[in-house]
Amino acid sequence: RRVGYCVVGLGQFALNQIIPSIGESRMSKLVALVSGDREKAETVAEQYGVSTEAIYNYDNFDEIAENDEIDIVYIILPNSLHAEFTVRAFEAGKHVMCEKPMAVSVEECEQMIAAAETANRKLMIAYRAQYEPFNLEAIRMIRDGELGTIRSLDNVAARPIDLENPADEWRVVKDLAGGGSLMDIGIYALNGARYLLGEEPVEISATISNPEGDERFTDVEDILSWRMRFPSGVIANCLTGYSFSGNRFSVYGSDASLTLEPATDYYKHGLRVMTEEEQTEPQIQEKNQFALEMDHLAEAVLNDTPVKTPGEEGLQDVRLMLKIYEAAETGAPVTIDWSYQRAVPA
Ligand code: NAD
Repeated sequence: RRVGYCVVGLGQFALNQIIPSIGESRMSKLVALVSGDREKAETVAEQYGVSTEAIYNYDNFDEIAENDEIDIVYIILPNSLHAEFTVRAFEAGKHVMCEKPMAVSVEECEQMIAAAETANRKLMIAYRAQYEPFNLEAIRMIRDGELGTIRSLDNVAARPIDLENPADEWRVVKDLAGGGSLMDIGIYALNGARYLLGEEPVEISATISNPEGDERFTDVEDILSWRMRFPSGVIANCLTGYSFSGNRFSVYGSDASLTLEPATDYYKHGLRVMTEEEQTEPQIQEKNQFALEMDHLAEAVLNDTPVKTPGEEGLQDVRLMLKIYEAAETGAPVTIDWSYQRAVPA
């Protein structure tokens, strides 16, 4: 059967990527909408065949408990609202897909994980790149030793923010976004380093640079460059920013290197493999990563199997991002004083 999704928040990402992609899924269907704008929700409902009775707002949200068609609630709200609506969805007895970053504090992430456990429901963080074929092929090559011993990594994930765009307005307000470029887009470089290497950093140093007099960066950061050391000895250099664009992951091994570029685009990716002798481009078929990730959770719900990117995976990134900020603030390297291991390998 197809599993019923209720989308919470009808902003740009929900309307332009997620809702249209449900039609490309194998096991998911759109059955309900939550929005503060009834008129917009009615238009979307009509377009996608959702019953007007299955339109909710943020106040009567908890009534989703009575709608048996809803299996999974997909939270696509500003970051600081993820925790509240995730917890309320679990209280309504639903499973949850939550957008990245999982939340804006460690405490919120822990509350979300605890709420999932109490409700005995699944919590998945929407790390789409971990379901995307080019990234999966890069992971396979690295794990199969095709690059030799991995020595270093260089990830860039940046995009210019535009205050004329309503979706970017809340992104420069720390209370709503939790942080700047790192929380929004740099998280791809961080998460990418972790799933490409298959290990967790033990030490972080970082530097922030904000342009003077730019109204976009009074509350949140622009350029953030950070370095992570891993137990294997690998050094990862990562870069994010809100005033330029870049989207490339490079992994350097003793025998070969690979570059994903674009690494985490919505619909277009590239993979190059380089040795001292030659450069090749493995042929990989593009697939709709949004449909793949929604089906991953649908399958986990139907078969009661573990998800690859659970709340613990989201929590790990939030903890690390807060350490990256701490390292930038203090100017000194920060040691990671906890351990985390994936339940399901990337
Ligand atoms: P957006 O501003 O377009 O959408 C947010 C929606 O939340 C809007 O419809 C807005 O009306 C609603 N909202 C409800 N309460 C609000 C409040 N108090 N303040 C502001 N808006 C409120 O933003 P978006 O780009 O769609 O991002 C939404 C979420 O999706 C974010 O968590 C973002 O990180 C995530 N996202 C993920 C990806 C990805 O590739 N996985 C891409 C874009 C966005």
